[in-house]
Amino acid sequence: FLNFKIILGKNGVPVAENFRLEQSTVTDAIQTGQVRVRTLYLSVDPYMRCRMNEDTGSDYLVPWQLSEVADGGGIGIVEESKHNNLAKGDFVTSFNWPWQTVAILDGSLLQKLVPQLVNGRLSYFLGAAGITGLTALLGVREKGHVAVGANQTMVVSGAAGACGSLAGQIGRLEGCSRVVGIAGTDEKCTVLVQEMGFDAAINYKKGNVAEQLRELCPEGVDVYFDNVGGDISDTVISQMNQNSHIILCGQISQYNKDVPYPPPLPPDIEKIRKERNITRERFLVLNYMDKQEASILQLCQWIQEGKLKVRETVVEGLANIGAAFQSMMNGGNIGKQIVLVSN
Ligand code: NAP
Repeated sequence: FLNFKIILGKNGVPVAENFRLEQSTVTDAIQTGQVRVRTLYLSVDPYMRCRMNEDTGSDYLVPWQLSEVADGGGIGIVEESKHNNLAKGDFVTSFNWPWQTVAILDGSLLQKLVPQLVNGRLSYFLGAAGITGLTALLGVREKGHVAVGANQTMVVSGAAGACGSLAGQIGRLEGCSRVVGIAGTDEKCTVLVQEMGFDAAINYKKGNVAEQLRELCPEGVDVYFDNVGGDISDTVISQMNQNSHIILCGQISQYNKDVPYPPPLPPDIEKIRKERNITRERFLVLNYMDKQEASILQLCQWIQEGKLKVRETVVEGLANIGAAFQSMMNGGNIGKQIVLVSN
């Protein structure tokens, strides 16, 4: 079988050239317990930036090895099975799917997927009905202190991305009365307001963010879903209310810098945070996997009911996965960045 490998090249600011495509052969013989899969979709995600460093900075992330096949979230179809619970034609997923068109995998490490749960949109299992959706939902529920009837204003940064676009909608579903997004283009802001039901959105690359935020959040900010960190977050935190909450989801503006995670706030912002008793606890979705099953069912139900609007940006071809990763890190995506490997 033909099989393409993409190989990581060097550290630094990620560029498409960090990845190399190679052709090799997969053996015809599979062992008991194994399956041969054809890859359908692969996910590119910000955490992969950490896997490009020898020291990932996290005990739950192992570095990608130079000249070894990279891996991440993926979905495929079983083409041959020697595993008791998997049959030809089953759709399966793993967090550690090799970036190959065809692979032989240990069946016990795969989860079977039910396409009906997402109206047949299998790739949603890498986004809205996968880790991304879980991150948005559990972030809001575990760290947001959102309550129905509490008249809370939520601000989301990285709002038009995979997590952000869901987090704002979930904030609303869970009871926030006002939801404002911050994103990097006018087009993204339009999508947030017209498709995703945000009350307003700010293009942080245009005009004065602090002024716009003050206008759009006249009663201050009660919940801040933070995907980006840096200046944007400093601006939002400055406008947060007493006893309000930061959902510390990610700090993508800092990922190419050699700083600890989570990066400390500048002293003046940290002073505000302390004085106003604003919580900023680290949130890691992997710590809540006991809630995975029920939460995925909730997300799928909202998707089926049309309460959760899902956007994807799809790049075709394994050869383009490095470029897709780089593009996502630079804001080229609306919603979840997906790589379509084969139909
Ligand atoms: P994403 O938001 O779909 O894609 C990344 C987005 O970040 C880009 O589209 C870009 O949008 C924005 N961005 C890039 N550089 C930026 C900068 N310097 N300043 C402001 N915005 C910038 O990615 P995602 O997968 O949904 O991840 C979003 C965040 O969630 C990341 O920080 C990630 O690490 C975090 N995350 C955390 C967990 C957890 O367990 N805590 C799990 C999954 C993801 P613009 O056009 O708006 O700049």
